[in-house]
Amino acid sequence: MSKENMTNSQNITLHVLGCRGSMPISGPAFTKYGGATSSYLYMTDKEAIIIDAGTGILNLPDLGDRRISVLISHSHIDHILGLPMFLGPLGAKELSIYGATHEQLTIRQQLDTYLKRPLWPVGLDVFAAHINYVDVKENAAPFQIGDVTVTAVPSNHPGGSTIYKLECQGTSVVYASDFEHEELPDDRKDIVAIEAATASAKDSASKDLVTQMMSSPLDALTAFSQNADLLLYDAQYTAEEYQKCKTFGHSTAEKANELRLAGKIKQTILVHHAPGHTDSFLDEMEKEIHDKYDCSSEEMHLAKEGEVINVK
Ligand SMILES: [Zn+2]
Ligand SMILES: [Zn+2]
Repeated sequence: MSKENMTNSQNITLHVLGCRGSMPISGPAFTKYGGATSSYLYMTDKEAIIIDAGTGILNLPDLGDRRISVLISHSHIDHILGLPMFLGPLGAKELSIYGATHEQLTIRQQLDTYLKRPLWPVGLDVFAAHINYVDVKENAAPFQIGDVTVTAVPSNHPGGSTIYKLECQGTSVVYASDFEHEELPDDRKDIVAIEAATASAKDSASKDLVTQMMSSPLDALTAFSQNADLLLYDAQYTAEEYQKCKTFGHSTAEKANELRLAGKIKQTILVHHAPGHTDSFLDEMEKEIHDKYDCSSEEMHLAKEGEVINVK
């Protein structure tokens, strides 16, 4: 038996480092769910896979000697804002930053648009960390980070975003933040990325997934997430708010509920909370979700900064 096969008992955890959407927020009304923006840590015995680098990345626990990888969904500012303050203290460590081409820019080019003057005093080259930039191909063959298998597909979000599925030891976690359940108008789609994802499709089923993601996104995400142990789903808006915020690229708890039932998802956590939603507002929202959809907190709840979920 190889050494890899003997690591059956390793723990897999998902840490919510930051789950606020769009903009960080602070103050006494935002202490329970937190104000740091999108960043999550998927951790096994050997791997520390950070998903998105919003300001939540500054809440990282000690990673020991685990290998560090950062998966970026897209470069909207709330998903990369924390990156320079994370890279500085890392010193000369080695890490890999993964991301797909969006808006016709590679992940390195996207980060370079933020990390330069006048938006930031220094560029990425200044950091001592040894950074490998890995270009993710959406809808292509899965890739490995150690014993974690990662699959990337395009999301339905203005300018594009990537949905990641992480599989390890028979478990699967799907990260679907920045996802809208209704079709977007053409001028909000990242047409170039969609064409690339269609071209890199392995077979007709994965080709269909991209087409479906653009025309009936909820069905496509349901197919992609089937039987997941944990789904992180964008529920930035209430159903009423969504009516005024269509095409902004976000979704609702109502759609999360449809997805989790159709996709037989074990546990769903709702992420990307709107900056204006206070603790008491989100408490009320969560209570309504449990009453209306007759589900337990275990089955679906709102993500809270600092919470750790045992995946295995
Ligand atoms: Zn976002
Ligand atoms: Zn976004």
